[in-house]
Amino acid sequence: MTAKIISGTEIAQQIREELKAEIDLLKSRHGIVPGLATVIVGDDPASQTYINSKIKACQALGIFSANYPLPESTSEKELLYLVKTLNDDPRINGVLVQVPLPKHINENRVLTAITPDKDVDGFHPINIGRMVIGEKALLPCTPAGIQQLLIRSGVNTDGAEVVIVGRSNIVGKPVANLLMQKAPGANSTVTICHSATRDIACHTRRADILIAAIGKPRIITADMIKPGATVIDVGTNEVGKTPQGKRILCGDVDFDNVKTVAGAITPVPGGVGPMTIVMLMANTVKAAKLSHGLM
Ligand code: NAP
Repeated sequence: MTAKIISGTEIAQQIREELKAEIDLLKSRHGIVPGLATVIVGDDPASQTYINSKIKACQALGIFSANYPLPESTSEKELLYLVKTLNDDPRINGVLVQVPLPKHINENRVLTAITPDKDVDGFHPINIGRMVIGEKALLPCTPAGIQQLLIRSGVNTDGAEVVIVGRSNIVGKPVANLLMQKAPGANSTVTICHSATRDIACHTRRADILIAAIGKPRIITADMIKPGATVIDVGTNEVGKTPQGKRILCGDVDFDNVKTVAGAITPVPGGVGPMTIVMLMANTVKAAKLSHGLM
């Protein structure tokens, strides 16, 4: 068997086209331009790259974007003041503070200072709580992107055995919560594995849908997969550099061997990665609509 490739690049493009149409309509019909503020403290090159791609994504879709690059020496008080200003700014519907923050700043205090209605990363405890009880919420971007990959590639989640390896607050726990909801594109039976799980393979071999969010290159091997299963690889591991200095990435899944057993699989790169940014754009549009009572 050779698995069908679930292309995050193609599905993200589909969503971008839908968002573009929605944004055009918001402008022409209601005079609303969704706005995203990005805040970066210090000059970490990886964070800079992420912020630049978010700004570019905004520009391509016609979302207003305001970037606030701050020096490494910024105090927590100054950062909290900026967050408060952005919370009160009517042009801004989404506030994104790029993490990690410098060590002298309490990340949790800053992220929870973002008003939940502008928390387009979906990390605020209020949004997490809303998601868990099945209320309307700004959903965390990577988990929401994974759910869209499943829905849009026609994978049936209803009653499916979903096994997630990884229990982080940004991927494992929220994607488990999303997929266990009594809702379309969810309604699954969910198991979470982690580093203390005794026999991971005995769980993964039961999975109709396996989600790997571990951060260890190719740790999920072909013998751990139920034939025909759908495999979503969240892992983004740098395993070297090209002679030109470009990062070589691989997932948590041994793609070449697993694709001979699985029914469908996401590649790395080009799988979950492109979905995360597009879901950030989708959250910004959703936040704009919510703030104008249009949802
Ligand atoms: P994380 O916070 O480091 O969590 C990793 C999880 O994997 C933890 O729950 C850990 O268990 C578990 N784990 C580690 N080694 C294990 C093992 N040998 N067997 C079973 N479980 C093990 O990582 P994360 O932030 O969730 O990210 C995971 C991966 O996804 C990383 O490669 C990251 O770069 C990538 N990622 C990609 C995107 C994207 O947009 N494509 C977004 C987010 C993350 P314990 O809890 O017991 O420590």
